[in-house]
Amino acid sequence: MKPPVWLEQAVADVPDFPKPGIRFKDMSALWRSAADTSRCSVALAAGLEDVDVVVGIEARGFLAGLLTAQRLGVGFIAARKPGKLPGPIDRIEYDLEYGTDCLEIQSGSFAPGDRVVIVDDVIATGGTAAAAAELVSRTGATVVEIRAILELSALGARQRLAPHVVRSLWEIAD
Ligand code: AMP
Repeated sequence: MKPPVWLEQAVADVPDFPKPGIRFKDMSALWRSAADTSRCSVALAAGLEDVDVVVGIEARGFLAGLLTAQRLGVGFIAARKPGKLPGPIDRIEYDLEYGTDCLEIQSGSFAPGDRVVIVDDVIATGGTAAAAAELVSRTGATVVEIRAILELSALGARQRLAPHVVRSLWEIAD
């Protein structure tokens, strides 16, 4: 899939970061550019209708998620790493390659039947997005779509996330 030029130019590959074997997708240049940030928010929100709320996943998913929410004119809810949110929380633990991780949202964040879009910066294995989708679904809200700026498509996240609809601005095959 051919990415938009502005996006391709704004993403840098950083080998072996934050640990050996990971090729980190650095989008700092995108956020440094007001024009690219604006293009990104338009692209993330494109085609979305009947959305009540956007959920962004800590931490870089907050940037992409809040932009999407603003563009859609809807509210934003943060899915956070453990221990960051006050008050009653809903929590899900999920498996990583080594060990487990956890996402939390504040209980009562959604109205019954809310239609939710989940947004992150990068979808790799899809484990994080799958956990967020499960967490949202357990509250009785409906996940209408999962969106990301980049998707590392060789890692099979789409299969893992099915039947959720997944859209990303750039599906990177290699
Ligand atoms: P996963 O659960 O494997 O889909 O990983 C997705 C989460 O890890 C996202 O929140 C991303 O911010 C982060 N992530 C995974 N792989 C990368 C990568 N190559 N570059 C930047 N962020 C990544």
